[in-house]
Amino acid sequence: MTGTDLGGRTALVTGSSRGIGRALADGMLAAGARVVLNGRDTAVLEETRASLAATHGEGRVLARDFDVTDEAAVTLAVDELEERVGPIDVLVNNAGVQHRVPLLELDLADWERVLATNLTSAFVVGRAVARHMVPRGGGRIVNIASVQADLARPTIAPYTAAKGGLRNLTRAMCAEWASAGLQVNALAPGYIHTEMTQALVDDPAFDGWVRGRTPAARWGRVEDLVGPAVFLASDAAAFVNGQVLFVDGGMTAVV
Ligand code: NDP
Repeated sequence: MTGTDLGGRTALVTGSSRGIGRALADGMLAAGARVVLNGRDTAVLEETRASLAATHGEGRVLARDFDVTDEAAVTLAVDELEERVGPIDVLVNNAGVQHRVPLLELDLADWERVLATNLTSAFVVGRAVARHMVPRGGGRIVNIASVQADLARPTIAPYTAAKGGLRNLTRAMCAEWASAGLQVNALAPGYIHTEMTQALVDDPAFDGWVRGRTPAARWGRVEDLVGPAVFLASDAAAFVNGQVLFVDGGMTAVV
């Protein structure tokens, strides 16, 4: 098989109650997968589940609220899903937070929260899922990094450190798990218009900087990430492993 059909697969997408995660869940459902949504706010999560179920059918859209920074909650959720729903074939580590403050004013607690949500969570959720995937001899993990895995900007040091770490964690997971049949890749979006970036979109100076710095001269849309994510989760990417796919309108290709 070489196509992008995800029929018969189950995908867990963390942080999929809104934004990029929701779009990736929607795209994987459209490609035939069964999807487990995740987020912390149960009301928003249920609203999203109901909305996607109305489009794709009740049986294929599930939701499980847990905090990706809570190791015990992650382990419980993953083990329960594996037992009651079935094998998780695809994990998308997408949950993330942004915190904008200059380094000299940054609290240790905020540094640790951003690292925990954007980087450590990929280890914790990835390990919980891989404990099932490795004995099965297969599975896909897609880590949602960022252009900030490669580029730095003022005021987002912990985010930049986390996404750079996530890029190399992707390689480390590949190094340890590829021989067991797992494929672990990262998708690194450019500047995408979501709730996380709404204040930046609304800031004329920042908006102008994004449009000027992006060769495609626009903000990314969540839909721009769907094809690349489905590809990385599919048989079409059967020999792609340990890679970072930048989906950024050319931002990291030019100075
Ligand atoms: P949003 O803020 O719009 O959505 C974040 C999602 O993650 C929500 O569903 C949120 O739900 C969930 N989430 C946050 N913290 C946790 C947690 N501790 N446990 C479980 N779920 C959590 O962000 P985006 O959609 O913009 O970003 C998604 C990913 O893409 C992030 O990793 C981000 O770093 C990355 N990215 C975004 C870019 C952009 O320009 N927007 C660019 C590059 C990368 P809830 O709050 O209910 O938990």
